[in-house]
Amino acid sequence: MLIPAELVSLLKVAARVVVLTGAGVSQESGLRTFRDAQTGLWSQYRPEDLATPEAFEREPKLVWDWYAMRREKVKTVKPNPGHFALVEMSRLIPQFTLITQNVDGLHQKAGSPLVIELHGNLQRIKCSVCAAQVDKWNESTEDVPRCSICGGILRPDVVWFGEALPRAVLEAAVTTARTCDLFFSIGTSALVQPAASLAVAAKHKNALVVEINANPTPLTERVDFALLGKSGEVLPTLVQAVWG
Ligand code: NAD
Ligand code: ZN
Repeated sequence: MLIPAELVSLLKVAARVVVLTGAGVSQESGLRTFRDAQTGLWSQYRPEDLATPEAFEREPKLVWDWYAMRREKVKTVKPNPGHFALVEMSRLIPQFTLITQNVDGLHQKAGSPLVIELHGNLQRIKCSVCAAQVDKWNESTEDVPRCSICGGILRPDVVWFGEALPRAVLEAAVTTARTCDLFFSIGTSALVQPAASLAVAAKHKNALVVEINANPTPLTERVDFALLGKSGEVLPTLVQAVWG
């Protein structure tokens, strides 16, 4: 893939860069995006129907088990060249902010120092009633494990469809999006709000917007540069073109 010369020049002098990533960035590590079909036991369910407060209320054990499966899967996968290229960018750009919708922790595993996690993290567990963070729980029980403080059932500390994002986290993301020179939207379908509106907020404040995605999205027509391809290939090529 050829990186546009204009983008190379812009990146060389950009002081403030914001990157928003989505599930596509982890696809080459072997993690499924929500739009991929699920496999095996889970193929009869749509992720959009499992990752909701309603599903957890109706069938807590089903939702708990789906997350337990994803937690175990994440432990077996490694960051890919796209994650590592973003670590390099964080070292080369004076003010670099990484915002992710991913809950897999792969950016941190790759070495990204500061990550704004919009949707929480799979590995964190909290009480569904008193919200206490929990470090240990008994996975082997028939039921969903319970909180030792209040007896409420435990849940993953992620943001489900229909739930509000943690306020401070969203504010930090919006503030950086509004004050950057270049905004990258990478491996996200640009459909899930409010994350999808961050690119628009950046554009309103005259940032240039770059999209890297394996497929066109609703954002593609509105961006300044659309790089069609896998993030694990495009990002290292981009870093090489600018700083190599
Ligand atoms: P999404 O599943 O809606 O979209 C994934 C996007 O990635 C698509 O546009 C697809 O074309 C693109 N893509 C797929 N493979 C790619 C690759 N190799 N390189 C570049 N792009 C690629 O994901 P989303 O936009 O992040 O939003 C859905 C929600 O799913 C989020 O809330 C997120 O928390 C959650 N989610 C997270 C994970 C994870 O943590 N790994 C996995 C699945 C879903
Ligand atoms: Zn509790």
